[in-house]
Amino acid sequence: MNERYPRLEVNLEHLKHNVAKIVEKCGGYGIQVAGVIKGATGHPEVAKKFDEGGAAFIASSRLEQIEDAIDAGIEKPMMLIRVPMLSEVPDVIRLADISLNSELEVIRALNEEARKQGKLHKVILMADLGDLREGWWDKDELVAVAEEIENRMINIQLVGVATNLGCYGSISPTVDKLDELVEIAEKIEARLGRELEYIGGGATSSLMRIWDGNIPKRINLLRVGEGILLARDLKEFYDYDMSELCQDVFRLKAEVIEVKDKPSHPVGTIAVDAFGHTPTYVDRGIRKRALLGVGKVDYGNPEDLIPMEKGIEVLGASSDHTIIDIQDAEKEWKLGDVMEFDICYATLVYLTNCKNVNIAFV
Ligand SMILES: *Cc1c(COP(=O)(O)O)cnc(C)c1O
Repeated sequence: MNERYPRLEVNLEHLKHNVAKIVEKCGGYGIQVAGVIKGATGHPEVAKKFDEGGAAFIASSRLEQIEDAIDAGIEKPMMLIRVPMLSEVPDVIRLADISLNSELEVIRALNEEARKQGKLHKVILMADLGDLREGWWDKDELVAVAEEIENRMINIQLVGVATNLGCYGSISPTVDKLDELVEIAEKIEARLGRELEYIGGGATSSLMRIWDGNIPKRINLLRVGEGILLARDLKEFYDYDMSELCQDVFRLKAEVIEVKDKPSHPVGTIAVDAFGHTPTYVDRGIRKRALLGVGKVDYGNPEDLIPMEKGIEVLGASSDHTIIDIQDAEKEWKLGDVMEFDICYATLVYLTNCKNVNIAFV
């Protein structure tokens, strides 16, 4: 069964290297790393490497993944990084040691539930600095919530503030933005008369401040997923040198199920494709093509696939098939051959979520 395709190969040693390297780099600035496992759908083998590599917290947006990590025997504190649904409050208290929050009503419910379960639950309050996903926009309200937790909630411990950048609004974690977060934290500290344990300055994109050596002193927590799992984005989008990290932790392998010469432009009346769209097709004459036994159901968007060999072009896909132009390939492709792809974050999320994909650890 192990040679079943499509297959996602995971190099666990390289993954562990990446975790340890990010932990070391952040550690140099007094920053702890919450290892975000959701990019690989919280696969327990992946989560274990985040643990072994030295992440301070195991973090996910999904409670199911946190539960799997606990069941896999990981004893690190578990962090829920998507602000909780009211409906999942009992499970948040049961499974997570710490959660990111942006609604007072939810925090009150967490407090009540933690009392019932006899637990002390830690919370980090999210400040929205302009990316416009989760967090308080009104910073006076944020300070007031901090005070309410401090003075009235017995089973909730306020441990810090954090922000999320670059997810919806594509806002960059500049020094100014992070200074703004520190200012908010210090306003809360002044009001509470004590220091906050954590000031969380974002995710992988904030590693740019580590690489540049200009991360504000008081930032002491980052939540890192992509920068560990793939370590591609900072190189790809901002040209940062990521050569100390392995970019080959994940590889997609798919089997060739047909090789034929065919016209490059569809023949007949063009209507809609399998997903109801009408793409445009370029007529390049008769070309040699390979069909792969993998499709959109497995990986999402075919344009995100990165062929490992030169001269190969992904033409398109339907649910279960991928069409590849191999006319200019260096290799002579045959039926039954296995084609290999590098992948990006979105592809990884889809592949690890798909039960048709055989995940193999190498
Ligand atoms: C997904 C997520 C992260 C991790 O993001 P990366 O870019 O993969 O490092 C961090 N924080 C929150 C709140 C997230 O949702």
